[in-house]
Amino acid sequence: MVRISDILLDWYSRAGRDLPWRRTRDPYRIWLSEVILQQTRVAQGLAYYERFTARFPDIASLAAAPEDEVLKLWQGLGYYSRARNLLAAAREVVERFGGAFPRSLDEVRSLRGVGDYTAAAICSVAYDEPCAVVDGNVYRVLSRLFDLDLPIDSTSGRRAFADLARAELDPLAPGRYNQAIMDFGALQCTPVSPRCDVCPLSDRCLALAAGTVAERPVKQGRTRVRDRWFHYLHITSDGRTLLCRREGRDIWQGLYEFPLLETAAPADLPDLVQDPRFAEWLGDAPWHLLRSTSLPVHQLSHQRLHARVYRIETPTLTPLAASVAVPTPALGDYAIPRLLDRYLSSPEAIL
Ligand code: SF4
Repeated sequence: MVRISDILLDWYSRAGRDLPWRRTRDPYRIWLSEVILQQTRVAQGLAYYERFTARFPDIASLAAAPEDEVLKLWQGLGYYSRARNLLAAAREVVERFGGAFPRSLDEVRSLRGVGDYTAAAICSVAYDEPCAVVDGNVYRVLSRLFDLDLPIDSTSGRRAFADLARAELDPLAPGRYNQAIMDFGALQCTPVSPRCDVCPLSDRCLALAAGTVAERPVKQGRTRVRDRWFHYLHITSDGRTLLCRREGRDIWQGLYEFPLLETAAPADLPDLVQDPRFAEWLGDAPWHLLRSTSLPVHQLSHQRLHARVYRIETPTLTPLAASVAVPTPALGDYAIPRLLDRYLSSPEAIL
């Protein structure tokens, strides 16, 4: 009987996508593409990949870059920890491996931000190591082909799928096989409306035979989504705007934003004015509210952000620690979250 891997490889040679990172065996570029694509659609990730490789053609140039520049280049992609980890790992490669990308799976896996999936993708594609990747596409394809109802977010489920992925891997073409099964999940065996009527694996697909395609893969629990209320103080004075760099272990670490007051529930300006941090930002100077703008709800994977921007003019700025008074025309030089980028390009912003 023809092996499933042969059918996938045959499908891939006819229908797989021609993407720039598939035309290289350079582990640096493969790693970069994998990190960009972790939470990003290919269509959006392409431009970022081109921009990064043009600015940082090799790992040494990335390692030498300031974090602010890397974050600025990353702006709009979200999940900024990926960019910070990318830079930290590039510096590790320079320091620990003399600038040469490590070769063994364990060494690649030891780099900052590199998990099992990324290490397997790099080593199989760049070095032809027989490592099977397991990402969302692979979970979906395998769970349907074998009609497996093990939850993919349970320890036993993850282990079983990793074993199955290893068993199905083509040891003679591991990189190409991994790309084939991931593309197959992205283009053919899609989450909604998979193209079973024109699927080269339809006569091998146990979920299709059992009528359970729509129920695969199985997940055991939904992650709770947390609501957060952000109140931004867009304070300007004499052509300068206050920005703060986000610190701490939270979203958007290292990015810039307006002074922020966060509350655990909805709040209005009279509530915010009572907050001692409000007075800290505005000092003793009189201030004038020009407008308040409610931003569209910003959905992250586990958080829902309800944000409002208060546009405030004051005669003097009070930059506190971790803040900078930026000439307003230079705001675009700073890496800022997409939610504020959208606000700044809207007519409501009043710069
Ligand atoms: S038959 Fe449908 S569900 Fe089964 S592998 Fe093909 S596309 Fe996926």
